[in-house]
Amino acid sequence: MLSLPEAQEEVLHKIRLLGPEKVALVQARGRVLAENVVADRDNPPYDNSAMDGYAVRFEDVRAASPDAPAALEIIEEIAAGSIGRRALGPGQASRIMTGAPLPERADTVVPIEDARSTSTRVKILVAGEKGDHVRPRGDDIEAGAVVLTAGTCCDVGEIGLLAALQRSSIAVRKRPTVAILSTGDELVDIDDPLPPGKIVNSNSYALAELCHAHGAVPLIYPIIRDSKAEIRRAIEDVSHADFILSSGGVSVGDYDFVKEVLEEMDARFLFWRVAMKPGKPLLFCTLGDRPYFGLPGNPVSSIMSFLQFVRPAIRKASGFPADDLLLPQSAGVAGNRMVNGGDRPNYLRAHLELVDGQLRATTRPGQGSHMLTSMLGANGVVLLDAGQVIEEGDAVELQIIPPFYT
Ligand code: AMP
Ligand code: MG
Repeated sequence: MLSLPEAQEEVLHKIRLLGPEKVALVQARGRVLAENVVADRDNPPYDNSAMDGYAVRFEDVRAASPDAPAALEIIEEIAAGSIGRRALGPGQASRIMTGAPLPERADTVVPIEDARSTSTRVKILVAGEKGDHVRPRGDDIEAGAVVLTAGTCCDVGEIGLLAALQRSSIAVRKRPTVAILSTGDELVDIDDPLPPGKIVNSNSYALAELCHAHGAVPLIYPIIRDSKAEIRRAIEDVSHADFILSSGGVSVGDYDFVKEVLEEMDARFLFWRVAMKPGKPLLFCTLGDRPYFGLPGNPVSSIMSFLQFVRPAIRKASGFPADDLLLPQSAGVAGNRMVNGGDRPNYLRAHLELVDGQLRATTRPGQGSHMLTSMLGANGVVLLDAGQVIEEGDAVELQIIPPFYT
């Protein structure tokens, strides 16, 4: 049986980068750039004032002090959005507003607070340094510079930068489409009556939201009964999706037909069990060149398997860099006693909080793979080796689950 890292490597090895597409800038948040962005201009585009005040020639004010102010003539006012018409001569200043271009031959701005003025004359009380309160052209972005590289995920800062460069559309990686197939004779859907012996299909909904949260496009299909013919038909129907996920039917029960069907369909199996709890029955294969994830049916197992395997696959296909595919890892401390009495590594759902500069992980008492409540408030995972016992305050190895809202 493969370990989790070995199995993750097998999966990632099979995942191909999706092609690029152009999207409007307003659609780009969360998308991964498929192009390097080169600035076609300087930003700011011209030297401009960082303050409301007076544009001056430093040589005229270098000796100014409250006792011996420098007296200057005000020759015009330059508001943001307009351009000064006159170059400064000796002994001259222009009143200037924040963001307005510096007039010719001005090199320094004196803030209003450091001056006293009438409508035509100003006394400068503070000398400061040459260049004070001037934002030079190209200070933020220089024309010709690569400001964003392919593989960068567009967040608020990137969107602002692209807008400043007037990039109203941008090339990003396509989003993978993910077909979601839930199998099981016991399943009814969320609006159906619930007869004795049946359970509600919660997996399709949790998995679809996980897809959304990771930038993929979920395609939910109707519940599939535990019949080989029905499973096969369903899988054939979704062969257009970039990835196929099924939940249930991959264990060793009498009605677990998914593996058999995939064998009949000439799937190439990479693994069908992983040494982890929850999530041991987990099948990964390719159908043609299409990755297929057979996730376990238990609700928590399916979510955890998604986070460990499908999430990195989606991220790789979507263009995220190789070192940013898996859940981030961190050291932390245990907030409670934790015991792994089994023979497989445990992946315990935990609530992480920062206490005295350390990530403190507290697990819920109910960690059964059928217990959806163990996911509530879970923003991390504690890794516990087989047989390991951890006391409160001990060091632990963690995975961080980033927030799902986007
Ligand atoms: P299986 O892997 O098919 O043996 O299913 C394992 C457990 O997960 C069973 O108790 C199922 O009832 C439960 N289960 C399977 N599919 C789903 C689903 N779509 N939603 C909620 N629970 C499920
Ligand atoms: Mg089943």
